[in-house]
Formats: sequence, C-alpha cells, structure tokens
Amino acid sequence: MHDNKTKLPAAVDILIIGYGPVGATLAALLGRYGVHVLAVDRVHEVLLMPRAIALDNEALRILQLAGLAEDAFDKIVIPEVRMHCPMVGQFGRANTSGSLDGHPKLVTFYQPDLEHSMRAQSRHFASVQHQGGFELVDLIQDDSGVLAILRDEEGSLQQVRSQYLVGADGASSKVRSLIGQEFQGTSYSQDWLIVDAAEREQQAIDHIEFICDHRRPTPHMPAPGGRERWEFMLRAGETREQMENDEHIAALLQPWIDADQLKIERKAVYRFHARCCERFQSGRVFLIGDAAHITPPFVGQGLVAGLRDAANLAWKLAWVVNGRASSKILDSYDQERRPHAREMIALAKMMGGLVMPKNAPVAFLVHGLMRSLRLVPYLRSLFEELEIKPKNNFKRGLFMPVARGRRLRRGGLFPQGLVRTQNGSISLSDDSLGDHLTLVGFGIDPRTLLDEEIRRCWEGCGGHYLHVGLQGQMSRAATPFVEDLNNALLGKAPAGSLAVVRPDRIVMHEGPQAQAGKLIRESLALLGY
Ligand SMILES: Cc1cc2nc3c(=O)[nH]c(=O)nc-3n(C[C@H](O)[C@H](O)[C@H](O)COP(=O)(O)OP(=O)(O)OC[C@H]3O[C@@H](n4cnc5c(N)ncnc54)[C@H](O)[C@@H]3O)c2cc1C
Repeated sequence: MHDNKTKLPAAVDILIIGYGPVGATLAALLGRYGVHVLAVDRVHEVLLMPRAIALDNEALRILQLAGLAEDAFDKIVIPEVRMHCPMVGQFGRANTSGSLDGHPKLVTFYQPDLEHSMRAQSRHFASVQHQGGFELVDLIQDDSGVLAILRDEEGSLQQVRSQYLVGADGASSKVRSLIGQEFQGTSYSQDWLIVDAAEREQQAIDHIEFICDHRRPTPHMPAPGGRERWEFMLRAGETREQMENDEHIAALLQPWIDADQLKIERKAVYRFHARCCERFQSGRVFLIGDAAHITPPFVGQGLVAGLRDAANLAWKLAWVVNGRASSKILDSYDQERRPHAREMIALAKMMGGLVMPKNAPVAFLVHGLMRSLRLVPYLRSLFEELEIKPKNNFKRGLFMPVARGRRLRRGGLFPQGLVRTQNGSISLSDDSLGDHLTLVGFGIDPRTLLDEEIRRCWEGCGGHYLHVGLQGQMSRAATPFVEDLNNALLGKAPAGSLAVVRPDRIVMHEGPQAQAGKLIRESLALLGY
C-alpha cells in the first residue's frame, strides 16, 4: 500500500517532474552535487513497456558520472549492426566493436533494470527525495522561483516552491504545455509492433540486424537475461488488436524461431515521432529527455539524448543554487543541447529512410546505392566507423571560443582512459575528476602555476586540480596525481599544457602552462565572476 497522505516539502531547491530514467539520473547527479531535490511522479513504479534497449558509450559515461557501477545492471556488448535487403543482400554495416572513452561503443540492456539501479543510486543522497503518486497540474513562475501545484491520487492539491523546476515528464509533458512549448516535427504514419521475448534456450544472435524489407521491415536484436527483441512494421489495414494477438506474433516469429521456444514477455504497438521543441528553457523552467525531444528509435538515441540533457543541466543548476556561478550560465543549456538533439533526430530520420523503403523499386535503388557506396573508402568509413554520428561538440555555449589546430576541442568531450591513482588502484580517469570543475595539467602540477589569489577564487567556485603523468611516474605533491596508463589523456594534448574541464566532462578552456592565470580568469568570467 502506498501512503497517499504524504506531505510534500513546502520548498526545495530543484523540483523534478517525472522520475523516469532521465528524471532519476538528474536527481542522482544533483544529489552528488549536494542539492536539495524533490522528484515527483504520477505513478509509483518504473514503466514496464518495451522501450529503450540500446545505449552508446556516451550514455554509459553519463551513468558512470551519476555514480552507477559498471555492473549495476546487465548489458550485452554489440559488436556490429548489419543492414540487410532481400533484393541486394547486406548493404550496410556499422562496426560497433571496441570501446570509446572507457566504455563499449554499443550495448543492449533492459530498461527497467537501469531505472531500478538509478532510483537506488539517487536514494543514497540525503538531499534527494522521491515521491510517487503526485501529478503536476499547474505551475506559476515569478522572479525568485516556481510554484508547482501537484495533485495526489485522492485528488487533493499540494504546493511546492522551488528555485528551478525541471520537466522530465516524458513525451506528453505537462510541463512543456504549461510553458507553451509545443512540439514541432513530424509523426510517422506507420505503426510498429515491438515484441520482447525471453527464455530462449540457445544463444540468440550476437549483433543487431535490420531486415529492411519494404513489405515488413524488422529490426532484431539480443538483450540481457536471454532476451531478444523484434520490431515489426504494420502493413496498411493491420490493427493493434490483430498484431498483439499471440497467434499472430507466433506467425511473425516463425522465420526465426518457434514461438513455443520463447516466452513473450512484452508486446506493444507504437507510432514513432521525430519532434523537438523550440526552446528547452522558459525562465526558471527546463525541459529534459522526451519532454524536450522525441526521436524514432532507429539509431537508439532517445534515452541517450535525455541522459546528455541531464548531465549538461545538473551541474549548472547545482553551481547556481550553491552560489558558485551566475544564473546566466543556465542559458547555455538550451544553446548546447538543442542543436545536437536535432542532429540526432535528423540522423534517425535518415536511417528510417533506409529501414522503411516505400516500395520494391525504391528499396532496390536505395539499398543498391548504399551497397555501391561502400566501395568508396571514405564513404564506407563514414557509415561503418560511425563517423556519420553527430559529435557531441558544441558550437555555442559555456566554453571559450574554439581555437584552431588544437587537439583538445573546447566545447567538446574531454577524453577518458585508464589511470593508476596515488593509492595504486586502477580506474577510469573520470573518477579522478570527481564532481568538480577541474584544472588538468598534462605532465605538470597545475596548482603550482597559480598565484595565491587566483587559487583562492578557483577553489571558492568548486575548482579542483588533477596532475596527469606518464605510466611509471610519481608525484609527492599534495595535488591529486594519476598515471595515464593507455595514453588516452596525454595523447590528446601537448605536454605541459592545461585544460579546464567542466563537471559534465566538457572542455571549457585549454592552453599552454604559461597562460595558467589567464585560463582560470577567463573560465571564472564564464561562470559570472
Ligand atoms: C520502442 C522504443 C524503443 C526505444 N529504443 C531506444 C533505444 O534503443 N535507445 C534509446 O536511447 N532510447 C530508446 N527509446 C526512447 C526511450 O525509451 C525514451 O527516450 C526514454 O524512456 C525517455 O525517458 P524520460 O525519462 O525522458 O521519459 P519517461 O520514461 O516517459 O518518463 C516520464 C515520467 O514522467 C511521469 N509523468 C508524466 N507526466 C507527469 C505529470 N504531469 N506529473 C508527474 N509525473 C508525470 C511519467 O509517469 C513517467 O514516469 C525507445 C523508445 C521506444 C518507444
């Protein structure tokens, strides 16, 4: 039994509406930064619908940032994605083997497991509270905060005041409609049946395959726990009721396996959308995750984009409410995140064109063309090595303007590799950056380069230091030191140079050691000092 008489706190720093995977990740991140957070959701439990199944290395890095251990939930590493056409054979392939910035390039997972782990993680923080059974019905903003009106399951209303409110309330976001940010974009006219099955005796396929048959496009992929997923596009005239019928599902699965060798765990018919709102912020209210953008799942980037939103916004909100930065930095959330979310949607639409050709002649032409393009090495690597995937490099935002010819890009992701810390343990380098703004010295102790006054300012706004050395080097200084075991960091910047890295692992500034003071002054100015 859930207690519906719960009294919500009258005031919090941040109120999160929606405790799905993105809201829970934001709550966990804010908890790490010591912010007083309330996350409410109209339901109590995690949703069990078949939804996200694939995550990329960037998503896994954000889950690491939020504090999830590598084994917090089960994953299957996917070495490749194959695209097949009944007429021209295999016409496309993406090589997803190996890892990038410390994580596999592509894994599959079971969304409810991830959500349970993230909720457990956010519960570690005394400053984070979660409450199910409350639905947002209205909000009023003024100069100093937001008043949210929430309705419990018995219909009683309660008010919560917060400095900032974040709408993580999914695709039909109430927050989005209350701030007048209607979605722009298209909906597909096709519906899809998603079938999640479990308990197959033999190993399912080890890769993701897209059967791009214009008569019935069907992606198929394995997932942890002996699971696998098929997605079947509905033909004209087919109804949800017909498709969700067990006998019909058994007939659809017949080319792969007898349905009685599996347990159909979940099934649902969805219509996909490609939509993004005009602004992710209105005053003190922010939108993240599906509340801000939704994409067809063909490149597995819906949840990933929401996780990027959470990482980008969390530290900015924390720095503002903790008095370490001006509220102006919050404007950079929309500037940084919206263009990239739109680029990912455009990529998913393009992929949709390959997966769902309109008819046989179009399939023959498009798939045939894709197959021939693979003969051109540049175009082959564009698709095969995922270079077509938009890089998480910002054009505008909270970083110093991009300088030409630098290996480390300002406004781009700082690399991650394996390091040995001073106590001899081996870990991923982000864990040594911790929850801070960090001045990183490549082969140099960055702290020694700053005078007393600037050091005090830097540390006052949450600034820390990290000295990165070669494997086998040591340091006796007080500054945290790590050995770069696979040259993942030292290989990306000249020896003796510095980088200012934001808590979300974005490079805010970089330059030579002779400019250490300037680097810090300019970074502090960006924060409003
Ligand atoms: C078939 C399918 C396949 C997908 N595959 C992938 C994939 O492989 N990779 C990937 O990255 N993404 C994928 N996605 C997308 C991914 O599932 C979503 O992007 C993700 O679940 C969105 O998370 P969210 O937290 O933003 O929203 P949700 O998970 O929708 O959570 C929103 C929460 O807000 C609550 N809420 C709503 N309104 C209110 C209110 N007024 N008051 C209080 N609470 C409220 C809801 O109860 C819910 O718990 C897929 C989606 C589908 C449908």
